[in-house]
Amino acid sequence: MNDDLASLIRTIPDFPKPGIQFRDITTLLLDPDGLATAVRRMVDATRGPVDLVAGIEARGFLFAAALAVPLRAGVLLIRKDGKLPGATIAEEYALEYGEDRIAMHADACAPGARVLLIDDLIATGGTARAAVRLLRRAGAEVGQAQFLVDLPDLGGADALRSDGIQVDALVS
Ligand code: IMP
Repeated sequence: MNDDLASLIRTIPDFPKPGIQFRDITTLLLDPDGLATAVRRMVDATRGPVDLVAGIEARGFLFAAALAVPLRAGVLLIRKDGKLPGATIAEEYALEYGEDRIAMHADACAPGARVLLIDDLIATGGTARAAVRLLRRAGAEVGQAQFLVDLPDLGGADALRSDGIQVDALVS
């Protein structure tokens, strides 16, 4: 079994713009053993019972669904604003230049639902922190967030911890 997850993630220089080192996880997704190892480790790292696994568009969806099945939880989609068909609530977050909005269905979770937040990667934490604000507005109890990759120099995981979230990542 390929246990070295970091070696399955490649770096693409200058994507999506010059100077950015993009961590590309599509190579890990292509590797059956690597994918199975990643999902198993995320399941093992899950603390306490979970009612819903919230995945952030788009690569977060893949891991959210893979975790939800063994955890016997549902999947809650957090999408770019304007993509969900029902009534939504949205949160803005800052990008390097400008801002973006993510949304969820307003009725997606019952008050007090125990939610595990999932994305492929945390960088500045802007996306994940907006997702936590959104879920809390909807009445969810967000105790933990898990990522395949953390870029610790950018401080996102620490910022998320300061919001009261337990943060775990498989690769730093
Ligand atoms: P943050 O909001 O700065 O933490 O950026 C995290 C979001 O941007 C996540 O939804 C990631 O999927 C995406 N992202 C940022 N940088 C990368 C990268 O190097 N590889 C893959 N996704 C990235």
